[in-house]
Amino acid sequence: MNNKRNVLVVLSGPSGVGKGTIAKMLVERNKNMSLSISCTTRNPRDGEVDGREYFFINKDEFKTKIDNDGFLEYSEHFENFYGTPKKFVTEKLINSDVLLEIDVNGGLEVKKNFKDAVLIMLAPPSVEEIRNRLIKRSTETIEKINLRMERIDYELSKSSLYDYTVINDDLTAAIERVEEIINFEKNKI
Ligand code: 5GP
Repeated sequence: MNNKRNVLVVLSGPSGVGKGTIAKMLVERNKNMSLSISCTTRNPRDGEVDGREYFFINKDEFKTKIDNDGFLEYSEHFENFYGTPKKFVTEKLINSDVLLEIDVNGGLEVKKNFKDAVLIMLAPPSVEEIRNRLIKRSTETIEKINLRMERIDYELSKSSLYDYTVINDDLTAAIERVEEIINFEKNKI
């Protein structure tokens, strides 16, 4: 088992596709996998804890971190910044696989620096399904949900640049497929 390499896995996909659930379950099921915690300037949602879902920082702190080359990548969504802390990820990668749950722009940026990163796109069985999930989650206004819906086409249009696409039509099957991909990649020389 020691000859297997640790891999940096990027999980992307449109908002509401179930990325968060899958990422959480992957980490629970796989002892050798750590979930990276991103920095964001957006406000915490109900139930979110600083240092667990995200490191919640303000725009000035974010800019300082950019200036100090503290991010592996960062991008802006809906007027807020999100970034992957470089040190956090590279340190974790020494002892475990690391999972990044980030957007497509971030994923493609990571691949530029880490050629061996494995990019997995999580796609919905139907776009309508996503809309229903977002409405059910009801943490956002309809206007914001519509903005996120516009983003879906953009995210999915980048699938061909990703290494794999997994359709989340069944949660367990999707998780197993992602695990299969990771195991395959871990055995590559
Ligand atoms: P949310 O606000 O719903 O938690 O996340 C919004 C979007 O930001 C999601 O698509 C999520 O994957 C993405 N995101 C979260 N962290 C990062 C990050 O560190 N970098 C980038 N580029 N996107 C991120």
